Amino acid sequence: MKMPSNGMNEQQIFEQMQAYRAHDLDTHGGRTWAYVYDSGLEEVDRLARKANAMFLSENALDPTVFPSLLRFENELVAMAASHLRGDSEVAGNFTSGGTESCILAVKTARDYARHVAPHITKPEIILPVTAHAAFHKAAHYLDVKAVLVPVDPVTYQADAKAMEAAITPNTILIVASACSYAHGVIDPIEALGAIALKHNLLLHVDGCIGGFILPYFRRLGVNVPDFDFSVPGVTSISMDLHKYAYCPKGASVILYRNRTLRSFQLYACASWTGYTILNTTIMSTKSGGPLAAAWAVMNHIGDAGYLRLAEQTLQATRAILEGLKDIPALKVLGTPESSLIAFYSDEVDIFVVADEMRARNWYVQPQLGYMGSKSNIHLTVTAASLKRVDGLLTDLKASVAAAKALAEQSSGGPDLLQLLGGLNGEGGLPDLTALPPEAFQQILALAGIHNGQLPERLAQINRVLEVLPPGLTAQLLKDFVNDLFVQPR
Ligand SMILES: *Cc1c(COP(=O)(O)O)cnc(C)c1O
Repeated sequence: MKMPSNGMNEQQIFEQMQAYRAHDLDTHGGRTWAYVYDSGLEEVDRLARKANAMFLSENALDPTVFPSLLRFENELVAMAASHLRGDSEVAGNFTSGGTESCILAVKTARDYARHVAPHITKPEIILPVTAHAAFHKAAHYLDVKAVLVPVDPVTYQADAKAMEAAITPNTILIVASACSYAHGVIDPIEALGAIALKHNLLLHVDGCIGGFILPYFRRLGVNVPDFDFSVPGVTSISMDLHKYAYCPKGASVILYRNRTLRSFQLYACASWTGYTILNTTIMSTKSGGPLAAAWAVMNHIGDAGYLRLAEQTLQATRAILEGLKDIPALKVLGTPESSLIAFYSDEVDIFVVADEMRARNWYVQPQLGYMGSKSNIHLTVTAASLKRVDGLLTDLKASVAAAKALAEQSSGGPDLLQLLGGLNGEGGLPDLTALPPEAFQQILALAGIHNGQLPERLAQINRVLEVLPPGLTAQLLKDFVNDLFVQPR
């Protein structure tokens, strides 16, 4: 494919872009229960677009020549620090998202350890299995070992004792969530803070999704345990603004207890022939758009506005939890303390329920079972969810009934799991790790995936991904994506 030799006009461009997005999920309106965060406030979107466009071309690469961006960033960080009860010593930066914030927290810990404990040559970070995948990615990118610790099988909270037992002479960082993405529960931050202090270790609290909304839930009377800089031992916190602060995507902050610690995050380079590089975050050239939009949205909604949005979110979350009690086939995992809900079923295939919901024009997010967490459906509740609660519950009931009916019909179609067993010439799923590369293509094809095109119903695929060893699943996912991002034919 080549560039059009003569450019298209504005009308053609936007017609084509509209056509391209015909099959995108709705980002607004409350039918999409993951990936998007909708305040339900039309003027917030308008304002964000305007601010983003206004600063689209400013380059945050060099804060000395775009002082507006430096000012936005320092003000946002100060607001975030105060929200998380940090003092004036807290230092931080604006990043492109939660993953970048988490990677930077691990990078800072690694470089801090190189400075204070240079004898550590194989650094380890301790993660509860509920910690976000971003920390695995950080470990992968930064050549740090991720040590996984099982969580409490009932509450899905990190097990502080088990975390302490996982500390070795190579440990550089403990990670905990407030709250976890999968189940929306808060890890025992105070206990972990005490452990971090006792062992002279850093403790990162991943508040990417919970950090912003939980202080509002506390003000609304929810019993939210302390998880922020008020807890001794907490040394850094990540908090996404593009989640519950309803800023456009590309907005997060990473905060440290003080500037000395933050200094290990920074990067400067004078060993090349070009301009002087002094980077606070991973990106070098970065648009001022997301930063300006975040500044605009936060200053527009303000504290009272966020409290109202949090109240709607809390109301919606409680209504869903109440409503789920009337659907006996569905059971909530753990005790959600935030605005995230995960539910499973022992009676019907939960992944079929997800497909049935999709057929009813809802997006709910399947999560694979892993280390004591059963396969489940995840809901991210936002302020705009409130008006959709009744509709969601009605269709969940219908979807459960449909999934039951489907199971009874026993469609007669190929059972992927059996076929997979057949690949190995056995009934179960023994060692699949030695599969030749062609086998992966075969598995993808069996699952109905051709040229990166997914079938409409994903239950079988999710089930297969779940039963395969995680390393193999990851390989399969990479093969899938490798076929997905290709030149259009
Ligand atoms: C969303 C999330 C992340 C990752 O954030 P991205 O913005 O998607 O990169 C990390 N941790 C938690 C708890 C999250 O919910």
